[in-house]
Amino acid sequence: MNKKINCREIANSIKLKIKDEILEQKINPCLEIIQVGTDFASTKYINNKIKVGEELGVKIVLNKLSETITQRQLLKLIQEKNDNPEVNGILVQLPLPKHIEPKIIIEAIDYNKDVDGFHPHHLGKLFIDNPSIVPATCRGVTHILDAIELDLCGIDACVIGKSNIVGKPIVSYLLNKNASVSVCSKSTKNLSQYTKNADLIIIAAGAPDLVNYHMVKKNSIILDIGINEKNGKITGDLAISDKLINKIKLYTPVPGGIGLMTIVSLFENLLNLYKTQNKRK
Ligand code: NAD
Repeated sequence: MNKKINCREIANSIKLKIKDEILEQKINPCLEIIQVGTDFASTKYINNKIKVGEELGVKIVLNKLSETITQRQLLKLIQEKNDNPEVNGILVQLPLPKHIEPKIIIEAIDYNKDVDGFHPHHLGKLFIDNPSIVPATCRGVTHILDAIELDLCGIDACVIGKSNIVGKPIVSYLLNKNASVSVCSKSTKNLSQYTKNADLIIIAAGAPDLVNYHMVKKNSIILDIGINEKNGKITGDLAISDKLINKIKLYTPVPGGIGLMTIVSLFENLLNLYKTQNKRK
C-alpha cells in the first residue's frame, strides 16, 4: 500500500479550480512580490511562486531590492503598494536582513492585500475560529487533512515548531477542530514522549531527521513541513526508513509535499482577497 500522500494530485485539483475561476470571471489578479537581498532559498521559492502564478493567469510583479535597503524605504514601498488599487496582493519574502524587523513589515501590509495571511488581523481571526485569510502553509495542511478525510475531533495531535507563521496557525486550526494538541519546540525536554502518543504529527522545525521510527505511534499520520538541505539534497524533518513506512499510516514527502500545497494556497488567498476587494467597490 502506498503510504505517501499524493500532494501533487491534491495541489493540482486546487490549481485547476483557481484557474477555472480566473478564466470564467475574466479577471487578472495582481500579486506584488518584494524580495530583499539575494538569498538562494528565497530566490528559489519566489521562482516557484512565479511559475505557478503564471500557469494560473495571475499577474506577478517582482520587486527586487538591495540587501542594504533601510526599513523606512521598505515601509514606503509597501505603503505605495497598499495605496495602489491595481495591486490585489502583496508578499514580502521572508527572511529579511537582520536590520529589518519582520513584525513591523508584516503589520505594515494592508491586511486586505496580505496573501500570506501573517497580519495579526488574520492570525487573530484564525485564533478565534472565524478565519479569513489563513497562512498559506496552514491552509495547505488543512487541504491535505480534508483530502485524506481525517476527522480531527478528539484525536491526539503533536505539532513540532511554534513559529507565528507556520506552527502556531496550525495549532489554532487543530484546536478549533477539537483535536487535543501538544506543541513542541527546541525547549521540549523529551520530544518522543509527545510524538509517541500522537495520532497526527505535524513537523515544522527545520531539523533533518528530527522524528524517526522509534518516536512514532503505530498507524500515525505524519505531515512533514520542514525543508532542509542535506548532502546537496532537499529533505524534510522526518527520517524516512522502511521500518517507519511499515509502522505509520500516511506521510507527506519532501520535496513534492506540503511545499506544493503552500504555493497553491497562496494563490487561493490572492483570489479570495481579489473577490473581497471587488465586492467593496
Ligand atoms: P522557525 O525557525 O521560525 O521555527 C522553527 C520552530 O521549530 C521553532 O518553534 C523551534 O523551537 C522549533 N524547533 C527547531 N528545532 C527543533 C528541534 N530540534 N526540536 C523541536 N523543535 C524544534 O521556522 P518556520 O518558519 O516555522 O519553518 C519551519 C520549517 O518549515 C523550516 O524548515 C522551513 O523551511 C519550513 N517551511 C516549509 C514550508 C513549506 O511550504 N513546505 C513553508 C514554510 C516553512
